[in-house]
Amino acid sequence: MIPLDVFGSESIAVDLLQQVRWRDGVTCPRCRSDRTVRNGSYREFQRYLCKNCDRTFNDKTGTIFAHSKIALRRWLFSTYAFLRFNTSFRQLQYEIEVTHKTIHRRIERSGEALDAPSLDLVGPVEIDEVYVSAGKKGRERDQPSRSRGLSTRGRGLYDGDKPPVFILADRGTGQRYVIPAKAADESTIRLLLADRQEEPLTVYTDVFRAYEPLEADDAFTREYVVHGDGEYADEEVHVNTCESHASLTRRWLSPHRGISKDKLTQYLRAFQLRRELYRKPGRDALKHAIRATL
Ligand SMILES: [Zn+2]
Repeated sequence: MIPLDVFGSESIAVDLLQQVRWRDGVTCPRCRSDRTVRNGSYREFQRYLCKNCDRTFNDKTGTIFAHSKIALRRWLFSTYAFLRFNTSFRQLQYEIEVTHKTIHRRIERSGEALDAPSLDLVGPVEIDEVYVSAGKKGRERDQPSRSRGLSTRGRGLYDGDKPPVFILADRGTGQRYVIPAKAADESTIRLLLADRQEEPLTVYTDVFRAYEPLEADDAFTREYVVHGDGEYADEEVHVNTCESHASLTRRWLSPHRGISKDKLTQYLRAFQLRRELYRKPGRDALKHAIRATL
């Protein structure tokens, strides 16, 4: 159920932030001391005094919500609508009456606060890449792609406007990872597959040349599918999970036109977060999202 009470009342929104942020007790954001006492209030937020460093702070000091004139409940609604329903910032500006640029900045900042996914691969692992449209902000999407004809077989380059994004599906753990890269080359692939519990790690790929060196390496058992060769899915050797996850990724990115390449990571981490909270009830999902940005 959508936690409407949180979006309708600033004090309930603040209460939710307190529950998540101070779940292990109030600590000073500057010196980490837990020798803190309540010290008045700042709007709906509780203020505290740190008896160790003698500084004051409040519930949102040092969070992504700090230094914003916009009510916390509006930010929580934006975060929720963005992660849950993939609402565009242009649409959100009419819901919370804040310009889409302001929303953009704040939500991208929360994306920056998200941790990189930690891969702990068990395998078999499907790995594949997609090339998403991203470019300098403001560039018209309808312009012809600069990478067209640049590389063989449609493989993009970061320097073009279709940076490679790797999709990994670990069948051993059920985890999916979506990670943008500068290049689709051997060293990137080795880096992505470096955190593994199993050796040799079974890896399923397509015939892309950059995966070939894995075959000569004892740390991997590589098997590949030849698309369009009547061998699309050879029983368990396929990258279909990656392909369906890639189409979800494209859908996730599509309302947010003109994402610049350097911001792509944040949007993809938000996509990872969306998946983590997908099955959680509304209030738990929102708490999870807040916790992830702290
Ligand atoms: Zn302190």
